[in-house]
Amino acid sequence: MNAFAEEPDGTVWIGTGGGLSRFKPLPRIAQDAPLEVVFTRLVIGKTEVSGLHDPSFGIHENSFVARYSALNAPRANGVIFRYRLGGATSSWTETSQRELQFANLAPGDYQIEVEARENDGEWSGQSAQFPFRILTPWYSTWWFVGLCVLIPLSIAGGTLRLRFLGAQEREVELVQLVEERTADLRRANEELVLLSFTDPLTGLANRRVFDQTLDRECARMNRIDSSVSLLSIDVDHFKALNDSQGHQKGDDCLVLLGAELTRLCRREVDLAARCGGEEFAIILPETTRYGAEQVAECVRQAIAAMKLPHPASPVAPYLTVSVGAATGTKDWCGTREALVAAADQALYAAKKSGRNCVCVAPTKPSGPGAGDPSSVDGN
Ligand code: GH3
Ligand code: MG
Ligand code: MG
Repeated sequence: MNAFAEEPDGTVWIGTGGGLSRFKPLPRIAQDAPLEVVFTRLVIGKTEVSGLHDPSFGIHENSFVARYSALNAPRANGVIFRYRLGGATSSWTETSQRELQFANLAPGDYQIEVEARENDGEWSGQSAQFPFRILTPWYSTWWFVGLCVLIPLSIAGGTLRLRFLGAQEREVELVQLVEERTADLRRANEELVLLSFTDPLTGLANRRVFDQTLDRECARMNRIDSSVSLLSIDVDHFKALNDSQGHQKGDDCLVLLGAELTRLCRREVDLAARCGGEEFAIILPETTRYGAEQVAECVRQAIAAMKLPHPASPVAPYLTVSVGAATGTKDWCGTREALVAAADQALYAAKKSGRNCVCVAPTKPSGPGAGDPSSVDGN
């Protein structure tokens, strides 16, 4: 249409309906002027973030798109960009593209930087920058990971501690149980020992202890050339007491009798024993015939003085005993068997004399007929 005319400096004349217009372009920007890069679009996940300052996003929005342009580039073609994503890489990457895409970014702080230059120019030096952050998911945070480690450890530690405490408690219980059982056993053992030495009804020494003690005292008497006396004590008409008042009443009397005999053994070495049924004995170490007679009479009187009712007795209305006393020396009744036999004979004599009395076996006879222990003195 010949409506345009160009001058050598680039001025263009344009013919219009109103006359002539002139387009005169600005002088061309120098080649070495740095190019200025600006972001034209920034998207994190599906969110447009242009204009936001240092935005943060969750791990599920971990993709990043950046579009940019060099505004003052004299021409669009021939511009080269370089970029780097701080936080992911520190080196620059050159590209002619105007869009960058990053996917599956790990949690962390990032900063995208883009610079531009013309084909043969210098890098702008004025990079476009955009910092952003992809947040660490809660299940990857140090405190959650720490808790995940600490909680099982605490549970395991707690369980172990509980088990340890339980085991300690059980051990204490077991020790207690063992101690209780040991104490029970000790008690049972002591009872057994006591039972093997004592008469269960009266608590006096039993026949076994009586025999052992008399053996020992006879041996000692022989060694030191001393004397030992024995009192054989028998309740008068005890069967009649049982028959008339019952066996229990008889037992009660035997218990009281035993206690009284114990009381009458004033010296520590004296020993009262129950030899069987209603028969008792007192061993009197280092006691002469005279002393034995005294103690025997004392015993007889003390029992009678107790006035334990015995209405069926033809001797007295109360319980009485007959006592046979014998004294052994080195050359007369110097053994247990001989001494017991002598005391029993004396007791027999006391029974024959009407009961409730004391008979004393003779000591070593000196004249003819000597050695007959049946000749006893009574009172
Ligand atoms: P004596 O005057 O001749 O000694 O006559 P006694 O009846 O005392 O003697 P005997 O030997 O005829 O009878 C003894 C009685 O002692 C018979 C028995 O029932 C009784 N007796 C023996 N042991 C016990 C006992 O442990 N408890 C009771 N209650 N009685 C007993
Ligand atoms: Mg008897
Ligand atoms: Mg009797």
